[in-house]
Amino acid sequence: MTSRRALIVGGGIGGPVAAMALERAGIEATVYEAADAPSDYAGLFLNTASNGLDVLRSLDVDVVAGAEGFPIPNMVMWSGAGKRLGEVANGIRLPDGTVSVALRRGLLQRVLREEAGRRGVKVELGKRLTTYQVGGDGEVVASFTDGTQAEGSLLIGADGIHSATRRTMDPAAPEPTFTGLLSIGGYSHHTGVPPTPDTQHLVFGRRAFFGYLVRSSGESWWFANLPWADEPSRAELAGRSTEEWKRRLLELFAGDLDRISEIIQATHGEIGAYTVHDLATIPTWHRGPVALLGDAAHATSPNAGQGASLAMEDALVLAKCLRDLPDTEQALAAYERLRRERAEKVVAYSHRIGRSKTISNPVGAWIRDLVLPFALKRFANPRAHAWIYTHHIDWDDKVA
Ligand SMILES: Cc1cc2nc3c(=O)[nH]c(=O)nc-3n(C[C@H](O)[C@H](O)[C@H](O)COP(=O)(O)OP(=O)(O)OC[C@H]3O[C@@H](n4cnc5c(N)ncnc54)[C@H](O)[C@@H]3O)c2cc1C
Repeated sequence: MTSRRALIVGGGIGGPVAAMALERAGIEATVYEAADAPSDYAGLFLNTASNGLDVLRSLDVDVVAGAEGFPIPNMVMWSGAGKRLGEVANGIRLPDGTVSVALRRGLLQRVLREEAGRRGVKVELGKRLTTYQVGGDGEVVASFTDGTQAEGSLLIGADGIHSATRRTMDPAAPEPTFTGLLSIGGYSHHTGVPPTPDTQHLVFGRRAFFGYLVRSSGESWWFANLPWADEPSRAELAGRSTEEWKRRLLELFAGDLDRISEIIQATHGEIGAYTVHDLATIPTWHRGPVALLGDAAHATSPNAGQGASLAMEDALVLAKCLRDLPDTEQALAAYERLRRERAEKVVAYSHRIGRSKTISNPVGAWIRDLVLPFALKRFANPRAHAWIYTHHIDWDDKVA
């Protein structure tokens, strides 16, 4: 056991997982989350891949039922005109049968937060970090917008893509880049689209990209990626009503597969809209007793469905380093050394996938639809992407 106390900034995905891993390593952790209240139904759904689920299994955390999750082992690609371009596995089935699952993001966060709480981790809501300072004794003092402070022996910035921890650590670090895509989505009831509960459908429409899955209950979970020239402000996105988004999406997908319009029309509840950014590389992930993890260190666009899994992997490796290396700075340096190459490779891979979604000129789209069936045959080869999905972190292995 060690007497180190960790301040974890951010209670999204990587933060609570890091807290649970640290607790297992004998390090006390408190999570400080900016949101005032849980928002269980915010943030659409996400794919958590076998490598992320493997991390959760190492920590004996089961999120699937609590986050209304279900396995999605297959993906079918379509052209907007309805030509079936091919089928690929959604990740790789691990020897124990684990495959990627679709989960509701808000519920996933709740399950992780509550499980961390059951294990003795304190989670404080309404704590938005403004800055931190490292004192002469090496202790870190975090300051929050409500005027309060917290002190610990190390601070982990798990505060997402627009990380305040990253800005404080290195004000010159590059900012995330807008990828030219918006991600918009929701949930629909009562469409005539038949359930295909183990398959996600991805449609390269004429003007935009559409993804959907239909659960056995008939409920559809869907998202659209829209090419968007200039980065919109948060206020601009929030200022558009669900009805406005519906109208815009119905225009964009007019003439594409009919089921797209049917699913959009049947949306119940709000349509959420997010800008898609990524962050290819930053000069350092750690300084003194402070480290970054997840999107704060290496934000990936959602195209590869890996951001959550990478954040979980970071969390486990970081806790192992702190468990095995008594010097905090050495532990954080080892963590970065073990994680950076893999994380940045996934970010670059996901970015490349995104480029095929932004082709909206008819000739480019025609070529893509012609070439894609051959490219998919290569993607369908599980060995090509085994490095992503079968990545395993052995908790019992010592970090040298
Ligand atoms: C539209 C969209 C779809 C996606 N789909 C997928 C997918 O299918 N699969 C996948 O694996 N990934 C997906 N991602 C990416 C994934 O969501 C992220 O990579 C993942 O959430 C990163 O986890 P994190 O813990 O690092 O950050 P986050 O989950 O973003 O958590 C950061 C937390 O920090 C809090 N916070 C922020 N600032 C502060 C502050 N100053 N002080 C305190 N707290 C703060 C936030 O409120 C938040 O709770 C998607 C992303 C988007 C935008």
